[in-house]
Amino acid sequence: MIYKWLKSTQYLVYPPTCLLCGGRGQQGLDICEGCLRELPRNLSCCPVCALPLPQEYGAATTCGNCLMHHPGFDLSHAPFLYLPPIGRLIGDLKFNSGLTQARLLARLVGDSLETAMERPPELLIPIPLHPSRLRERGYNQSLELARPLSRQFGIPLQYNLCTRIRATPHQLSLKKQDRARNVKGGFRVSGKLNARHVALIDDVITTGATVSELARLLKKNGVERVDVWAVARTP
Ligand SMILES: [Zn+2]
Ligand SMILES: [Zn+2]
Repeated sequence: MIYKWLKSTQYLVYPPTCLLCGGRGQQGLDICEGCLRELPRNLSCCPVCALPLPQEYGAATTCGNCLMHHPGFDLSHAPFLYLPPIGRLIGDLKFNSGLTQARLLARLVGDSLETAMERPPELLIPIPLHPSRLRERGYNQSLELARPLSRQFGIPLQYNLCTRIRATPHQLSLKKQDRARNVKGGFRVSGKLNARHVALIDDVITTGATVSELARLLKKNGVERVDVWAVARTP
């Protein structure tokens, strides 16, 4: 109650401002109507890895990559394409202490999940950062995305069960084959997972190699189904 009241007064004192053009936000979102309409949406994609596919393929078509090498996870939800200006919002989220960006992006992902999610997971797990990267950045952007989603759907969040055991170079700067090698054996699960269906939270799905690796490990630890919730997919 008090939280709701504080939230509404916060917007009276500081009305939401569009993070992209500086215009007036709407519906309590830090984005204006025009910029929201222009965001690159991932409308037609592979249900497993969210790779954008031509519209005529239909919603149920699995992409060739997933047919040949099924990833460790079962389903992905990435409502946007990693193109401008989504790339800029995610860049600020990762490298400019973008907690306002996290709030906006989580809201947009949450809104699209309201219609797209057919079975809610029992647990949310943000993709962990290696401790050295966490020290460098000061926060884990996936955790900042996961917190509002956990509140929105009333699904518990677990962020210290999985750890990254190897520091890895930035995925975006690597070639595809190198990426898969780069994450091999990169995670550890400590403790008991009390869920059979989990969703991993990430900012961008690039090849899916990182999330696939963690998903496989979770399945070795008794998880039956792993979904991936991300903001964007690289085309
Ligand atoms: Zn705007
Ligand atoms: Zn796919």
